[in-house]
Amino acid sequence: MSEFSIIDRYCHGVGKAQPETSIGVGDDAAVMTVPAGMQLAVSMDTMVEGVHFFEGTDPADIAAKLIAVNVSDMAAMGAAPKWATLALTIPQHEEPWLAEFSQSLDSAARRFDIELVGGDTTCGPLTLSVNIMGLLPIGKALTRHGAKPGDEVYVSNTLGDAALGLAVASGETDIDPRYRDVVLSALNRPEPQLALGQGLLELASACLDVSDGLVGDLQHIAQQSDVSIEVDVALLPLSDAYHDFIKRGGDLVKALSGGDDYQLAFCCPSDKHLTLAQLADDLSIQLTKIGRVRRSKKPRVSLIRNGKPFKLNDAAGFQHF
Ligand code: ADP
Ligand code: MG
Repeated sequence: MSEFSIIDRYCHGVGKAQPETSIGVGDDAAVMTVPAGMQLAVSMDTMVEGVHFFEGTDPADIAAKLIAVNVSDMAAMGAAPKWATLALTIPQHEEPWLAEFSQSLDSAARRFDIELVGGDTTCGPLTLSVNIMGLLPIGKALTRHGAKPGDEVYVSNTLGDAALGLAVASGETDIDPRYRDVVLSALNRPEPQLALGQGLLELASACLDVSDGLVGDLQHIAQQSDVSIEVDVALLPLSDAYHDFIKRGGDLVKALSGGDDYQLAFCCPSDKHLTLAQLADDLSIQLTKIGRVRRSKKPRVSLIRNGKPFKLNDAAGFQHF
């Protein structure tokens, strides 16, 4: 199969056509109109076989996650995704693989109202890169630099499930069989918090998506906002699966520093807590206050439990949940 028939068969008509697209797949470049009053948010995420997913991973899972992780970056900015381009590097032209990948890419893109407007197709070690573009009202983007002393720190849903899924998938951790599907789906089919990001536009002072682990990611907000962030580990929102993992002797490391959760962590002035509770209710999601922003000469993230400093290795054997 030639490069051109691959593009024609598997990359044309993927996702949901957008009215602002003048030229999509097929020309030297795509051309889109940014509506008046809006700004373009652009981001890119790459997935490499053997690095971001195991060899032999279901192509439908790869495509769904590829879209999800990119949409998650839009969510973190409060942007509405609209367009994507795809750099597809595949070792050989395997039709069933491409068909499954393309079908899943199409349904994931449609779900989030994204049109695939272009890309590049090459032969090499399996690598998938998406460049996503979205729209935002001018000047309203959620950033990492707006956190203020006194703000409260929140996180959506639960943390550590994807890391638990990775440990289960790699045979490192045993888990009660009834939780297996939940944690594997957290790993393979993350759910980007798109509606939450847009709901936070007039509320949050700073926001990001938790892709590399809560503590490391909050460090970016601390540094860029020039503040310290104090997280109370007793407040971390954990799933039933994670509670069970702790009951069996597991610790909090995966919840604090495991990656791939794609929840939003954000800071908010304390007088907004009722509005946040309403938003959580409207979106049927969980929002948990996990800490506070403090003034600081040296920006950092600190952990406490019961008012005392908490060290990550104290987490071992911690059974209070
Ligand atoms: P050029 O040689 O001008 O860079 P290509 O031959 O690489 O163009 O691509 C032809 C058209 O197909 C372009 O519009 C490009 O954006 C699109 N395209 C190529 N690969 C992909 C892909 N993986 N997904 C979506 N569109 C693609
Ligand atoms: Mg060209």
